Amino acid sequence: MRINVTRSSMPAMDEYMEEIRGLWDSHWLTNNGEKALALKAGLEDYLQCAHAELFCNGHLALEALLRAMNLQGEVITTPFTFASTTHAIVRCGLTPVFGDVCPGDCTLDPDGVEALITEKTCAILPVHVYGRLCHVERFEEISRKYGIPVIYDAAHAFGVTKNGVSAAAMGYASMFSFHATKVFHTIEGGCITTGDGELCQRLCVERNFGIAGEESTPGVGGNAKMNEFQAAMGLCNLRRIDQDIAARKRIYELYEAQLAGLVGFLPQQAGVRSNYAYLPVFFADQAQRDLVYDRLKEKEIFTRKYFYPLVTQFECYRDRPGFDAAATPVAAKMAACVLTLPLYPDLTEEDTLRICAAIREVIA
Ligand SMILES: *Cc1c(COP(=O)(O)O)cnc(C)c1O
Repeated sequence: MRINVTRSSMPAMDEYMEEIRGLWDSHWLTNNGEKALALKAGLEDYLQCAHAELFCNGHLALEALLRAMNLQGEVITTPFTFASTTHAIVRCGLTPVFGDVCPGDCTLDPDGVEALITEKTCAILPVHVYGRLCHVERFEEISRKYGIPVIYDAAHAFGVTKNGVSAAAMGYASMFSFHATKVFHTIEGGCITTGDGELCQRLCVERNFGIAGEESTPGVGGNAKMNEFQAAMGLCNLRRIDQDIAARKRIYELYEAQLAGLVGFLPQQAGVRSNYAYLPVFFADQAQRDLVYDRLKEKEIFTRKYFYPLVTQFECYRDRPGFDAAATPVAAKMAACVLTLPLYPDLTEEDTLRICAAIREVIA
């Protein structure tokens, strides 16, 4: 039986049907409907943040944030991320400047960031990776020292806290993705969390064609609204989120116990409650990683080289100045050796043991 690297968590069909039933009375399907407003309130409560503005997906939420902040110039970021982070920067006419990552958690190394700051730097955009957090206190210090806003790609960090503080309350603003493959999803979807209410107004305008009122269009905005069917899925999934994260944790720990000493795991972070969004393991070298990937695939076990290649190695960025994987050797090494293994709330113990046995067989 085929095992994919992930599998969307879904409510019982009846529960979703009950949630969307009212839409056949209201005929209100998008544009800040009842479901979207309820989800916004539910997320602000669960994520413990002042404001959560909903979007049709995480990527357009990030682009809207960069536009709403009126940024110009260079954004210091990480190459160890999904295409979306860098593409958003570039598509908004900004220039990404890449720093290397920390070996312990694959997040942007704050020690390298100060050397990259120039008079053109307008923001720092680190990424919380795999449900682990960036070195947020250090970024807070740098932000204060230079007066540069820090915004987080928190697509992997739904529900993650450090010493009780939510990832959604860190930095100036954060983007969360609610894509079907994420820990919490609305099929497609995303949000921006921030403490700045004025930014929220600009985000809402940006999300809806730049329209601020019936006879007022101050911006050249796009369309990135979340619809009611997405929001209804989110309302159902939010009821199960703690259960889902607990199930992920159990599976994560089983993998750790089974594969200890054979492959590398990222260490737990002090004070951090992870969401166990992914299960990255690190092999001795790229050849071993690729061999395990291929052998598991033959057994219908689909893992993912995530994140590989680095964004700086994408063909769309070939020959662009500043896109050089050799300049971030830690990120390059981690990308070459990493494999994310199947992890989702209803992955069975039996399947987990089968995956571990298959890996052991290849390495032995
Ligand atoms: C999923 C993801 C995104 C994009 O989110 P979408 O909702 O799929 O548009 C951005 N950054 C990272 C790190 C992601 O994993």
